[in-house]
Amino acid sequence: MSKTTWRTSTQLVHGGIKRSAFDENCEGLFVTSGYIYASAEEQEATFKEEIKRYQYSRFANPTVGMFEERMAMIEGANFCLATATGMAAINTTLMAMLKSGDRVVASRALFGSSVFIMNNILPRFGIETVLVDGDDLNQWEEALKKPTRAVLLETPSNPTLDIVDMQSVADLAHKAGARVIVDNVFATPILQKPLDFGADVVVYSTTKYVDGQGRTMGGAILFNEEKLLKEEIMPYFRNTGPAMSPFNAWTQLKGLETMDMRVMKHCENATLVAKFLENLKGVTKVNYPGLHSHPQHDLAMKQMKAGGPMLSFEIDGGKDKAFAFENALELTKICNNLGDSKSLITHPGTTTHSKVEEAERLHLGISDGLLRLSVGLEDADDLKEDLAQASKTVFG
Ligand SMILES: *Cc1c(COP(=O)(O)O)cnc(C)c1O
Repeated sequence: MSKTTWRTSTQLVHGGIKRSAFDENCEGLFVTSGYIYASAEEQEATFKEEIKRYQYSRFANPTVGMFEERMAMIEGANFCLATATGMAAINTTLMAMLKSGDRVVASRALFGSSVFIMNNILPRFGIETVLVDGDDLNQWEEALKKPTRAVLLETPSNPTLDIVDMQSVADLAHKAGARVIVDNVFATPILQKPLDFGADVVVYSTTKYVDGQGRTMGGAILFNEEKLLKEEIMPYFRNTGPAMSPFNAWTQLKGLETMDMRVMKHCENATLVAKFLENLKGVTKVNYPGLHSHPQHDLAMKQMKAGGPMLSFEIDGGKDKAFAFENALELTKICNNLGDSKSLITHPGTTTHSKVEEAERLHLGISDGLLRLSVGLEDADDLKEDLAQASKTVFG
């Protein structure tokens, strides 16, 4: 049986495994910074890149290597580099490919720290950044009339679950000379494969659905282009040190084993909860790509296998009522993380997007009453009962 025909569930369990001389069944956790050479000559040859072997864990480590190979297999990408966090993955990708005078176009609805990189870090190096409404192809077309080096987008976006038409944006971006980077955290590789829709690089915060149980931080950069690896990403990566720790890679290898089951169960629960919220007293709007009421439902279903694990909804009465609703929840925990077995809720306006200017926040659809819910793996009936009792407490 060839590895190349393995289906996703099998890849998630067996992908990338390399066993040591001890024939261990479970992936080995190699906690080592350095590696021993048989001779000074072997070491010299390694540094001359005549021999490919482990050299230093900032460059590569066996446990991290297994994680990278498994991630690449699931994504259908030639290359994967694992990073310490999701932001390290995004920052490394951008810094490795950009130089002063370059131009970047990004969708406005990005993770808060990605917005910070666009607005505060890249301009410091003479890089022009342009933000567009991700769901408006006219704005992408206008912005991509000028030569551009990179496009960054998130779909579905955090926290309003807007969908970007990846293939159409990729076509425009490629004409402008740009590489397209897709932050695929909310969809996961189980639901959506951006490389199939024209993306050049896929980035993850593996802190979320890859770990899946709220334990370790991590990130991943995935792509097919060898030149991007050899000339841009690898030299930057080796010399600046965003590498993932072996322990985190080991934990996340275990996370990957159950990722397809978890993600599908998250989606099933999210669909049930989203439908329930649509009729719950005090809830004025539900943002969930799997619902027919989502304005881009058809596009979402074209790009994703299911509606996704995340949703957001608006509480009538602004911040006070939204806070009261959060405080009344018993099972669902107040936490700004996401992608955990436990259901987690946050008020984006005062947490993840509190640093975004008010006008911009409202333009993004992040109203004072908006709550983001990372639907967990509990029984959906218990989640519904919890939401119902919170609604009763706040709205009677
Ligand atoms: C969490 C997250 C990130 C950042 O990842 P970290 O692991 O926290 O650095 C980036 N993008 C999205 C969409 C996220 O949810």
